[in-house]
Amino acid sequence: MTVRKIIFEATQKLEEAGIPSARLDAEVLLAFLLRCDRLAFIKNPDDTLSKKQLADFDRLIARRAGGEPVAYLTGRKAFWSFVLKVNPSVLIPRPDTEVIVEEALSVVRQESWIRPRILDIGTGSGAIALALAREIPDASVTATDISKAVLKTAQKNAAALKLNHSIVFLEGDLFEPVGGRFDMIVSNPPYIGAEEYESLPAGVKNFEPEEALRAGQTGLEFYEKLIYQAHGYLKENGWLLLEIGARQKQEVRAIFEAHKDFYERIDVREDYAGLPRVIKGRRR
Ligand code: SAM
Ligand code: GLN
Repeated sequence: MTVRKIIFEATQKLEEAGIPSARLDAEVLLAFLLRCDRLAFIKNPDDTLSKKQLADFDRLIARRAGGEPVAYLTGRKAFWSFVLKVNPSVLIPRPDTEVIVEEALSVVRQESWIRPRILDIGTGSGAIALALAREIPDASVTATDISKAVLKTAQKNAAALKLNHSIVFLEGDLFEPVGGRFDMIVSNPPYIGAEEYESLPAGVKNFEPEEALRAGQTGLEFYEKLIYQAHGYLKENGWLLLEIGARQKQEVRAIFEAHKDFYERIDVREDYAGLPRVIKGRRR
């Protein structure tokens, strides 16, 4: 069977299973298996696979048809300007999260800090912390997570990107493992409430870690704690930047406003779909 036909049939299987990006996923998975570029299939559509390769590919397609995210099947996901290792212990970094990186960089530029101290709470794969460490070479970055397995993955990613010397990884609940004060604190905390969690796409709910997504009943639990506690870890004029869910703008702004004694210049930035995505405030 030729590559052309193999991709055609796999695409059909994925479509029947209701996978929206069927063709792309089939190509990405085959390229992963053959360790080649997807372009190779366009250039050489009449290539064939060995029996073993074919069997392996069928297994991958069956798993994808069962809803398993492509990133967990390939063990990697592109984020910012690099590729991160991922596994089912970590949330797959979302393109939306690049917006908090952009916003953080714009704050760093405006403030013209020298050797800023930056803290990323709930670092997951390390996505935000690594992007900031890479873009701000003189920054000293601390990244935390409550999960040991998650931190292990983040550390592997740091080593692969040769950023392990720019980042300190700490395990613990929110600020508990952290000392001193920071110029900037960033976080993409869990923010899915109980009701919304039940309605998440099956690929997310059945495969991604609940601890990375669920935030109590309302989805606001982490914002309450982060906004209230962060001022004790920010230098004067230090910034707190938080990713928010598309429908949480009013509520999270209200939490900042309730702490007006601590924060000023509260502002919300949208993502590229035009949805509220990042909220920030500066410590007075
Ligand atoms: N920063 C990563 C990203 O943007 O892709 C991961 C974000 S994920 C939505 C939230 C992360 O917070 C998870 O890695 C989870 O393990 C971690 N987490 C959950 N509860 C926590 C807590 N109480 N303290 C620290 N980290 C926590
Ligand atoms: N944006 C993620 C999702 O769509 C949620 C991430 C989070 O809870 N911080 O599932």
